[in-house]
Amino acid sequence: MLMAIWQKGMETEETHALTKEMMHSGEVMSWPAEWEGLVVDKHSTGGVGDKVSLVLAPALAACGCKVPMISGRGLAHTGGTLDKLESIPGFNIYQPVQQLQRILAEVGCCIVGQTETLVPADKVLYALRDATSTVDSLPLITGSIISKKGAESLSALVLDVKFGRAALYKDLASAKTLAQSLVTVGNSLGMRTGAVLSRMDAPIGRCVGNSLEVIESLEILKGRGSHTLIDLVTTLGGLLLVMSSRSASLEEGKRAVARTLQDGSALAKFQAMMQAQGVANHVACSLCSAHTDYYSVLRRAQNQTELKTQRQGAHTRTYTRKHTHTQAQNQTELKTQRQGTVLDVDGMVLAEVLHSLGAGRSKAGEPINHSVGAELLVSLGEQVDKGQPWLCVHFESPALSPAQTLLLQNILTLGTPLPQHTHTHTLVEETILP
Ligand code: URA
Repeated sequence: MLMAIWQKGMETEETHALTKEMMHSGEVMSWPAEWEGLVVDKHSTGGVGDKVSLVLAPALAACGCKVPMISGRGLAHTGGTLDKLESIPGFNIYQPVQQLQRILAEVGCCIVGQTETLVPADKVLYALRDATSTVDSLPLITGSIISKKGAESLSALVLDVKFGRAALYKDLASAKTLAQSLVTVGNSLGMRTGAVLSRMDAPIGRCVGNSLEVIESLEILKGRGSHTLIDLVTTLGGLLLVMSSRSASLEEGKRAVARTLQDGSALAKFQAMMQAQGVANHVACSLCSAHTDYYSVLRRAQNQTELKTQRQGAHTRTYTRKHTHTQAQNQTELKTQRQGTVLDVDGMVLAEVLHSLGAGRSKAGEPINHSVGAELLVSLGEQVDKGQPWLCVHFESPALSPAQTLLLQNILTLGTPLPQHTHTHTLVEETILP
C-alpha cells in the first residue's frame, strides 16, 4: 500500500480519510468547554537554529491561548525542541495527559514529547515507510503531521514550512505544495490551519546547538534578539491569533505577540512552564533574571573556538560572557580572509560540522551533547573588517580538526552586496491563510 501511495499519490479526499483514520488510531485529547477556540499549536518542518517554539509557546500563552505543544527530537542535521529543553536541568518533557491539562489550566502552555497513546498508527507506518523508502511521499507526510495535530484537538494550527539548502524541501515551489496539502487536510479535519513559507538557508537567529538555543530564546523573551527571528515568531503567532479570532488582522496579531516579548509577560510564562515541568524554582528564576550568568545553570562546553577575521574589530554577542566561571579552557580563533559584507552563511554545513562534534544524532535514541554548538557574531548584510571574530564554536573534543576548521571557514561568504542583496533578509516568504 505504501509503495502504491508513494508511486501514485493520493486525491485530497483520500489523504483526508487516511489522516482521519490515523488520528483516531489512539487517544484524541479533549479540553474544557471554556477553552473553545483557544487551543492552538505550531508545527515546523525542521531547520537549523530553529528555536521558535521555545519563544512562541509562552508568547501565545501570554496572549490568552492554550498551547499543548507536542514536539520532537532532533534527527540528522535538524535540531529538536525537546533536546533543547532538556539542556535545562530538571526539565521533564514526559507529562501524562492529566498533568498536561493542569499545566495548561495554570500556565497556558507546555512543551512535551509524543505519548504512546497518541496516534500509534503513525509509529507503525513511519517504521514501514522507512523500510520501504517511502518516507518522502507527500500524502504520507501530510497524514503523519496532521493526524498528530488533529489528535491534540486544536482550534487553530500554523505550519512553518521551510525551504532552502538546510530544509527538507530545497525550493519554494515544492515547499508550497506540501504547505497546501497540510493546510487543506488540516482544515478538512476542522482545525483552522494556515502556513508560513520561510527561508532556511542561513541559521535562524544567532545560535545553533541545544543549550545555546535556550540562551538565545531567553534573550528574545527578555526583549533582546535577532529581528529576523522575532519577525518569524510574531508572524506565526499573529496568524494563530487571527485564526483563533483573537486578532482582527495579521499586523494586529504580530503586534500583540511582539508586546509579550517586550513587557516580560512571555518570559513569565516560560518561567512558570519550566517550574511546572520540573525545573527547580531557583534555576528557573536564575535563567529568567535580567542579567543572569546562564552558565551558572546550563552546562558549558569545555572548549570554544572563535572564528575571526584578520583585523580586530567590534562585534556583537547574543549574551554576556561576564562571570562565566566555567569559561572554556581553550579558545582558538579562526580568521576570514578579507573585509566585506556578509552575503551568506551556510546553515547546512554548519549543522553538519556541529553534528560531527556531537550536537546531533544520526539515529533515533543516540545520545547528544547539549553544550556543543555555535554562536554567530555577525548578521547577514553586516559590514565586517578583516580580523573580526564572526563565529564562536563550543565543543568538547581537544581541538577542531583541520577539515572541520576549513569547512567552517568556508560557510561564510563575504563580498560586495548586489542590489538584490540589499533587502532586509527576512525569513518569511509567504503566508497562507485557511
Ligand atoms: N514529521 C512527521 O511527523 N512526519 C513526517 O512524515 C515528516 C515530518
